[in-house]
Amino acid sequence: MKKTLITGAAGFLGSHLCDRFIAEGHHVIGMDNLITGDLKNIEHLFPLERFEFHHHNVSTFVHLEGKLDYILHFASPASPIDYLKIPIETLKVGSLGTLNLLGLAKVKNAKILVASTSEVYGDPLVHPQSEEYNGNVSPIGPRGVYDEAKRFMESITMAYHRHHGLDTRIVRIFNTYGSRMRLNDGRVVPAFMGQALRGEDLTVFGDGSQTRSFCYIDDQIEGIYRLLMSDYAEPVNIGNPDETTILEFAQEIISLTGTDQKIIFKPLPTDDPLQRQPDITRAKQILGWEPKVHRSEGLKKVFDYFKSLSPDELQKKEHRNFNLKN
Ligand code: UDP
Repeated sequence: MKKTLITGAAGFLGSHLCDRFIAEGHHVIGMDNLITGDLKNIEHLFPLERFEFHHHNVSTFVHLEGKLDYILHFASPASPIDYLKIPIETLKVGSLGTLNLLGLAKVKNAKILVASTSEVYGDPLVHPQSEEYNGNVSPIGPRGVYDEAKRFMESITMAYHRHHGLDTRIVRIFNTYGSRMRLNDGRVVPAFMGQALRGEDLTVFGDGSQTRSFCYIDDQIEGIYRLLMSDYAEPVNIGNPDETTILEFAQEIISLTGTDQKIIFKPLPTDDPLQRQPDITRAKQILGWEPKVHRSEGLKKVFDYFKSLSPDELQKKEHRNFNLKN
């Protein structure tokens, strides 16, 4: 039986990955320090013999007994609100955390996939963004702690690949949405859905002309799975190229939720990229992958998910734990 370590297991992407690898028949070790993750996302896996949870901060030394086949490094704050509140932890998990996991992969002779991001392109001057584009990132802006940590992650991962012959994969994840996102993590999909559920106005930052391209969680997980199983070590973009302005997106949410909220405008955060759309030619060619779920279908599923939560669960979804235990 394959043994797979998933870091950030209690987070949004990590918990969906745990489900996928359990479904593929692996023994899954989920690791998380719960700084932004929520055990509720994986508690359904606790009764399974093939699942174990380790409460651990991967920015400190990571030790595991026995063999290990795969490592997926998904531990990191991933929303602007989070990494602005915990900038040092964000830098550490992308740099020291990645170093520790590459070291673990080396001693275990395991294949490792690291979660990079479209943020490595910064505020892009090339559109859409292909993997050849080197980006336009401010190292000292508020997003620098995330963007530069992820750029370092890619750099050290390629160094382990080239210097030690380690079997590595790098996925560049574009905006992704789905069930289990935290309502208050600042990302636009849960922000707008939470506002719709509470009957509040939708807050569009800037004039809403900035663009994003949103990928449904099932498509994202499929892309990541195929990349891990491939033999391709260079970075691969995984995202949905269907681009929209944030203003149009707010209007879509209003029609979807059937409410009569107004749109109000707030200042654009510093370094908020003006446009973002993945060029997925490489993923199509190498993985035979492309997204299948249209935004209208995916958003409906996610809104139904948030609506199905009890008031108590909804309140817990607002909860955030910034107290590092270890
Ligand atoms: N955004 C917005 N209103 C909100 C939250 C976000 O207009 O309440 C905008 C934000 O300024 C950005 C876009 O939505 O231009 C996507 O933001 P998100 O934080 O989801 O992702 P990222 O900026 O990291 O792509």
